[in-house]
Amino acid sequence: MGGVDRQKRRFVTLLGAIGLGSLAGCTGGTGGESESTPTPTPAEMADTRSEDGTGGEPEEAPPPGVSMEEFVHGPVPEVYRTARSQAGERRDPENLRTKEAVRFAEADESEYAGPGQNCGNCAEYIPDMNGDGFGACAKVEGYVDPEDWCTIWESIEEHEAEAGEGGE
Ligand code: SF4
Repeated sequence: MGGVDRQKRRFVTLLGAIGLGSLAGCTGGTGGESESTPTPTPAEMADTRSEDGTGGEPEEAPPPGVSMEEFVHGPVPEVYRTARSQAGERRDPENLRTKEAVRFAEADESEYAGPGQNCGNCAEYIPDMNGDGFGACAKVEGYVDPEDWCTIWESIEEHEAEAGEGGE
């Protein structure tokens, strides 16, 4: 678990960095890069803090064989691609939100997460199926740790109640 925790902390950092990196060409950013900005390398990530102050831990890497780009944006392993979430929601790889758009972050570090809310108890979460410690999400792209969180978190109970009202 410790390794996964460290990965998450690093992920929060890199999320901010990737978001900033992709905007740098338009906004001037903070790093002075003016040409097209590729996804930062892990070494570059170590020196980059997210502007919301959630960064600061030593860098960690995605699961072995997974690039940072894949980690953040996908694609996820095939086993998750169109899997169902723990509340039965089918993942549609053509209709996913970016992590930036939903303020994806470690639940404990997010100033927006409600008490007790995390991906692991979200209706949209697809639990780890390949033993790397990460699952996926039916609504959000990339790798997802059960202790992460985002703004479209939904309780399993609420989701099932809505499904019931829909006549399933
Ligand atoms: S909290 Fe967000 S990223 Fe996590 S499983 Fe739910 S919808 Fe997906």
